[in-house]
Amino acid sequence: MKVFEEIERKDHEQVVFFSDKKVGLRAIIAIHNTSLGPALGGTRMWTYASDDEALHDVLRLSRGMTYKAAVAGLNLGGGKAVIIGDSHKDKTEALFRTYGRFIDGLGGRYITAEDVGTTERDMEWVRMETKYVTGTSRALGGSGDPSPVTAYGIYVGIKACAHEAFGNDSLRGKKVAIQGAGKVGTFLGGHLVKEGAKVYITDIYEDKAKSAAKKLKATYVKPNKLHELPVDIHAPCALGGSLNDETIPKLRCKIIAGGANNQLLDEKKHIAQLVERGILWAPDFAINAGGLINVANELEGYREERALKRAEGIYDTLKQIFAISKHEKITTAQAANRLAEDRIAKISRIKQLYTGRSEFRGRLGELSPKSR
Ligand code: NAD
Repeated sequence: MKVFEEIERKDHEQVVFFSDKKVGLRAIIAIHNTSLGPALGGTRMWTYASDDEALHDVLRLSRGMTYKAAVAGLNLGGGKAVIIGDSHKDKTEALFRTYGRFIDGLGGRYITAEDVGTTERDMEWVRMETKYVTGTSRALGGSGDPSPVTAYGIYVGIKACAHEAFGNDSLRGKKVAIQGAGKVGTFLGGHLVKEGAKVYITDIYEDKAKSAAKKLKATYVKPNKLHELPVDIHAPCALGGSLNDETIPKLRCKIIAGGANNQLLDEKKHIAQLVERGILWAPDFAINAGGLINVANELEGYREERALKRAEGIYDTLKQIFAISKHEKITTAQAANRLAEDRIAKISRIKQLYTGRSEFRGRLGELSPKSR
């Protein structure tokens, strides 16, 4: 792989490779854009087949974080990290503490959190060596599991979609199909049932879906039957790529709004198919930003009520995206990207204004007789 070409292709600011043979650490941190603030994004631990694959993944994921933070109105940039290794076998205290020291060396340009393959406990090890980590356990003053705030953000986002598609944001009596009875899907189901929606839920693990259905007073559906259910809203809360050539033709819903990342297998092609079928799609990185809002909150001293309140902003963000989409005659996917890019451009310009704070002190220091 031509490393520099790859880094420049999507305008990354900095990519750092770390290795420590003694503890078996090989990690890459990608900082995509810090126009809005320090780059925040989780650390993924995965058995990548090659270094190229790991680099490709971290570049892709870190760019996504720039857009997610920008649309969520956070003063954060986009970054992500990958540790090459098996999360079931290769984790040690020494590995994560070494990794923490490397992060510390970046001086706060990158702040980490948990992600696929890493846990709160791993972040606690990282925290022993650096303050630039979020998502540690509530017991230690951290923000803990982000899923409840993610799910709440999706719930208010679904209401914004309902307002757009049906002219009214009440979900009473609306039929919602949830794919994935995991943390996000189950918390989301709870909010929907409470408002009087009729919820259908599935999972590849039948027991998990059946017990979630029982707990929620929802209806269990087999995984291969979910897409064809006649419902108002389809909520993908499992894995990415669930909206594809096979599933889209089966859909019988008006809205797609859920927590999974990268729902469209091929963004351009599959958003076009949804538009063609008259289905309103809530861009995933906008509607599932509650988790990022939650960890960002930890930077100010975590308070759950404040995190939930901020996640309510997802309602207005989606309405803004729908307004841009209609006004500019572009898809909701393009509108979400435009909203992010506009905010980054505008805030970057503001930062060029002279404020007389650090810059002034710096110049005076250089000019003063003492410093000479
Ligand atoms: P989870 O692992 O708790 O739940 C995912 C569930 O989906 C699992 O139960 C799994 O068995 C099921 N599943 C996988 N493939 C399926 C399929 N084809 N059909 C039906 N079920 C399937 O994960 P989670 O934390 O609930 O996250 C769900 C999604 O939301 C993920 O894509 C995640 O990246 C995204 N997300 C989560 C958060 C968060 O705060 N947890 C934040 C942002 C985005």
